[in-house]
Amino acid sequence: MAEVTMEKLVSLCKRRGFVYQSSEIYGGLSGAWDYGPLGVELKNNIKDYWWKEMTRLHDNIVGLDAAIMMHPDVWKASGHVDNFSDPMVDCKVCKARFRADQIDLNKPCPNCGSKESFTEPRQFNLMFSTHLGPVSGDDSNIIYLRPETAQGIFANFKNVVQTSRVKIPFGIAQVGKAFRNEITTKNFIFRTVEFEQMEMQFFVKPGEDEKWFEYWKESRINYYDKLGIRKDKLRFHRHGENELAHYAKDAFDIEFEFPMGWQELEGIHSRTDFDLSRHAEFSGKDLTYLDDQTRERFIPYVIETSAGLTRSVLMVLSDAYEEETLEGGDVRTVMHFHPELAPVTVAVLPLVKKDGIADLAKDIEKELRGDFSTFYDQSGAIGRRYRRMDEIGTPYCVTIDYQTKDDKTVTLRYRDSMEQIRVPIAELTSVIRKANKEYRRG
Ligand code: ATP
Repeated sequence: MAEVTMEKLVSLCKRRGFVYQSSEIYGGLSGAWDYGPLGVELKNNIKDYWWKEMTRLHDNIVGLDAAIMMHPDVWKASGHVDNFSDPMVDCKVCKARFRADQIDLNKPCPNCGSKESFTEPRQFNLMFSTHLGPVSGDDSNIIYLRPETAQGIFANFKNVVQTSRVKIPFGIAQVGKAFRNEITTKNFIFRTVEFEQMEMQFFVKPGEDEKWFEYWKESRINYYDKLGIRKDKLRFHRHGENELAHYAKDAFDIEFEFPMGWQELEGIHSRTDFDLSRHAEFSGKDLTYLDDQTRERFIPYVIETSAGLTRSVLMVLSDAYEEETLEGGDVRTVMHFHPELAPVTVAVLPLVKKDGIADLAKDIEKELRGDFSTFYDQSGAIGRRYRRMDEIGTPYCVTIDYQTKDDKTVTLRYRDSMEQIRVPIAELTSVIRKANKEYRRG
């Protein structure tokens, strides 16, 4: 089986309308990407799947959608103003910039190959800043684009406790944009300056944090299995002493084997009472929680699950891609998306256009719209139409022919096995629903 490479993914994404370079007609903007008609569907499906998994399937997790811009003191309290920086070095010859912890400083420059040395590492804060209101020039109205969604959750902890009926242990989940002025952006949508995160902060009683940390580690790795991601492509990486963030008691990354190697996909962090204590200190507000059973008052400990949404898109694309050699030597490119994630679930394809067959196909496609994301295509040989659908990961193709007119049945073709069965139109929705539920990658 041919290896999936980043070049192949980038090319397929561009060709089929998943991901485009930002501002491409102006030569592009480095570290920013746009999601095209299929990409936005895939991204939304991943987001919806996460949201359902993390909120609706629990009775103790609620959602939030906080503003991207927050009071600047939030970022002082969180430690981002002082600590959210990476060490940066410049090549003395070509002036290219690198993260000092991502290259070997004793080797030649990865950009120009020069053996001249690099500058001394200096800390570079990753937060984008701007000014609120028309006055600028000093730092009095400085404001940041959030570098993570988590702080919106901590800042609203009191609001949520007071206005919803949550009781500890409980979680608050949020999906949204985050911005980081990354020193080096590469590997397509893996590391970008604007990206989306899916985060959940789970508030627990101090002393119960280790139990919940284990629970969330287990739960989050199982989630990827449900999503249809191959198990041997995922692993845990525990942070060593020198990797742990200043607030963390313990931390594990879930890593995925991307085309460029094993890299972080999601972090599970035991954050103690660091965040709420700091916000209580900086805001002067009481952020303790009162347990109305025991009458105990305490600042909860926090277990965080922090996944990248746009990075998950890259994971799903990488995991799904296959160049399959068929009998006879033909090669088909097929994206094995889980049916819940596929941008198009069902394609409806008339075998002939005449004698009312195309109209019948259009009617069937309209019928299916209420239940699935559909696509109608009547142009080209059927084999080519199947290939087009395989390449965008459409799990089911329905073909309409003369027999459909006679006996009200259609041909249903499965993407992974390419098996074809005859199904009555009346049963199409339930057959597809069942196949979705039972889906295992073929
Ligand atoms: P790194 O050390 O690689 O810069 P991090 O450990 O600082 O990343 P976190 O702050 O833990 O990352 O962010 C949580 C998640 O958000 C990551 O696991 C990743 O999926 C996503 N993420 C972080 N930075 C970026 C980025 N620049 N582009 C895309 N996704 C990102």
